[in-house]
Amino acid sequence: MKPYDYLIVGSGLFGATFAYRARQAGKRCLVIDKRPHLGGNVYCADIEGIHVHQYGAHIFHTSDKTVWDFVTSLVPFNRYTNSPVANYRGELYNLPFNMNTFAELWGVRTPEEAKAKIDEQRAEALAALDGREPANLEEQALCLVGKDIFCKLIKEYTEKQWGRDCKELPAFIIRRLPVRFVFDNNYFNDAYQGIPIDGYNVLTGKLLEGIETRTGCDFFKEYKDSWRSVADRLVYTGPIDEYFDFRFGRLDWRTVSFRTRVEDTPNYQGNAVVNYTSREVPYTRIIEHKHFEMFGQAVYDNPKTVISEEYSAEYKPGMEQFYPVNDARNNVLAERYRALAAEEKDVLFGGRLAEYRYYDMAPVIARALAVAVF
Ligand code: FAD
Ligand code: UDP
Repeated sequence: MKPYDYLIVGSGLFGATFAYRARQAGKRCLVIDKRPHLGGNVYCADIEGIHVHQYGAHIFHTSDKTVWDFVTSLVPFNRYTNSPVANYRGELYNLPFNMNTFAELWGVRTPEEAKAKIDEQRAEALAALDGREPANLEEQALCLVGKDIFCKLIKEYTEKQWGRDCKELPAFIIRRLPVRFVFDNNYFNDAYQGIPIDGYNVLTGKLLEGIETRTGCDFFKEYKDSWRSVADRLVYTGPIDEYFDFRFGRLDWRTVSFRTRVEDTPNYQGNAVVNYTSREVPYTRIIEHKHFEMFGQAVYDNPKTVISEEYSAEYKPGMEQFYPVNDARNNVLAERYRALAAEEKDVLFGGRLAEYRYYDMAPVIARALAVAVF
């Protein structure tokens, strides 16, 4: 008998949730990760008593009750509600686009005034479409919110984040953001939202409790040719193109790097997330990590704070793959790799990298809960 039923490559939310279910089903799992820690992108480092989201701000949000019940059965969540602020050349605007933003931009006071203003702002773009669907992010944004918001809050930020002109990006990216005619700065429309109390490491720790793990272990260096001798099945959550040795060419990714520092003040920017939406500022946003988990007086009980500037760049080999680039070339390429993956009968490909999909955490967990423990 082989030592394991499953070798699970990647200890992020997909790998960890799958391992949790497999263990409950009585299966023996080994989870490996090439990073020096477990937890994938939700891993937090502890700096000055603050949980620092080392791979970017992670806010859990979902309307999927099954997922919410599942995660809250493992750990309690706090009441954090994401309400980022945008800084455009020193002017501050509330996000997502709502009555506060419209009042700040145009001085409008009522939903009726705001709607009239937006209709005026998007008239030109709608006329240019002449009834057809928006074909790219720029057309979509102009039709949704019009030219002032596009110019101040979307265009330059998006081009910094994606390194591409808004006309070359898919429309769906901007449809993630709500547009509301109420004074509500909640960035998400979901029914449930929060951060695990005591941080994400507690959540991934619970998922991986009692499961054998190895960090600093790269599948391609240690198991690629030999995994069948240690396990019956493989769950692979790394990049799909790499699994197939880049046979059809490399998929493009966006990567993000972080400049993190400790500031000698209890409250640096008054919010967890401040987006810098003009192109003059080289980073896309500044995260102040304590605000995810410390509220009211607790912010001041810790005299220090930790902030991270976020820089977006094109992925090059050796960097971390973060966001799939869902443009036409990459979608076609990813589909070819998915067809190869479907033929690997003893291997399950799951998660953001292995499916090459722009998944949030909750859909990743939903998928890992839904797939059969095969
Ligand atoms: P990952 O967490 O990436 O885990 C994959 C793991 O596989 C990694 O630990 C990696 O080291 C390991 N691995 C890869 N290749 C190998 C190999 N060869 N050998 C061994 N191990 C390997 N979602 C939200 O819901 N809310 C947010 O606010 C949010 N913010 C985000 C911000 C940023 C900057 C990014 C990039 C993503 C954000 N997400 C957010 C998405 C979230 O990170 C993902 O949905 C989730 O982490 C996906 O989990 P995963 O298990 O698929 O992948
Ligand atoms: N976006 C923008 N301005 C902002 C915030 C977001 O134009 O201040 C756009 C940008 O194109 C981004 C998309 O909206 O890629 C989705 O934003 P979200 O914050 O959901 O992206 P994330 O970085 O969390 O994946």
